[in-house]
Amino acid sequence: MNPYSTQSIDQEDILAVVQALKSDYLTQGPLVGQFEHALADYLGVKYVLVCPNATSALFLTYQALDLSQHLVITTPISFVATSNMLLANHATPLFCDIKEDGNMDENLLESCYQACPHKERIKAVVSVDFGGKSVEARAIADFCRAYDLFFISDSSHALGGSYHHQKIGVLADVSIFSLHAIKPITTAEGGAIATNDRMLYEKLQLLANHGVQKNGFDVEVSSLGYNFRMNELQAALGLSQLKKIDAFLAVREKIACFYDDFFRGNPYFSCVHTSLPAYIQSTNHLYSILLKPFLWAHKEAILQALLKAQIGVQVHYKPIHTFKLYQNLGTPTLPKAENFYKAQISLPCHQKMSLALAQHTARTLLDILGRF
Ligand SMILES: *Cc1c(COP(=O)(O)O)cnc(C)c1O
Repeated sequence: MNPYSTQSIDQEDILAVVQALKSDYLTQGPLVGQFEHALADYLGVKYVLVCPNATSALFLTYQALDLSQHLVITTPISFVATSNMLLANHATPLFCDIKEDGNMDENLLESCYQACPHKERIKAVVSVDFGGKSVEARAIADFCRAYDLFFISDSSHALGGSYHHQKIGVLADVSIFSLHAIKPITTAEGGAIATNDRMLYEKLQLLANHGVQKNGFDVEVSSLGYNFRMNELQAALGLSQLKKIDAFLAVREKIACFYDDFFRGNPYFSCVHTSLPAYIQSTNHLYSILLKPFLWAHKEAILQALLKAQIGVQVHYKPIHTFKLYQNLGTPTLPKAENFYKAQISLPCHQKMSLALAQHTARTLLDILGRF
């Protein structure tokens, strides 16, 4: 089975982890700090805190920004952790509909805000760079500035992506990345928080470290904290993977462009990557196709046929507001998000794929769709 996304681990990565394993420190050694500095340099941001995964990074960020009892405008098209961590922090998501590319529609933010009977409780916007394509960060930042809201970016798909020549990670007040195995680079499980805000960074550090403040041998605890630290083995892998990120992204872009060309003019679906503007570089974490409405009723059968042909397709995502856990929020129907779910399929696109495999995948897909 060729998966929709996968990690790429080479001999250098393995040696780096073995070396860390043989070192004096497995936790709280020098590598975690080195990895944080390397990520900060790569992104062009002042501070990076790494975490066990992006879910814990989201949890810490929401807690540090004190979102409890507040409302937060966010997107229904994401992995459920984006919203689950709001609930975990006693905040309530307010779902805003999306655009054709799966990203939150920045033009709907104003009406989403105005329609809310408790606008005074809205405290933040959490966007997601769906599939690795940046949201319209300037428009969202302007909106947040106008209403004094935090702009939080769940950029779990998007490490290495850029927008108007700036890396994703510097565009919002705070950005969260996932280093899960199938994300652009990996530390097996891992997450990172990037910000230019020193006060926020210091608060995050305390929260990730039991709330413990050290002064020589004396310690003080004046606020709650957890153990949400990354370990040295993960940091060793991360440092090694980060050296290869641009090469990984180049392969993904090559596969995505191949698909764009191959599928141009086909009668069955459109491709999100085809309409990428020149000022956005996507990480192509997902290569999304959107089936035309006449095929929506056959989607399950199409997916099964593709799996049978060893093509590891997946669907991203069932809209969060339709999950049982979220149904009591009284979210209105969000037609764009709900149709996106009916149409979307993620095709294999990753750094271990050859063009020959992409060609085989593309041909098989068109063959299968021809039967419906
Ligand atoms: C993968 C993902 C997460 C969670 O990441 P983990 O590192 O697995 O905790 C959160 N948000 C989005 C959008 C994701 O894709």
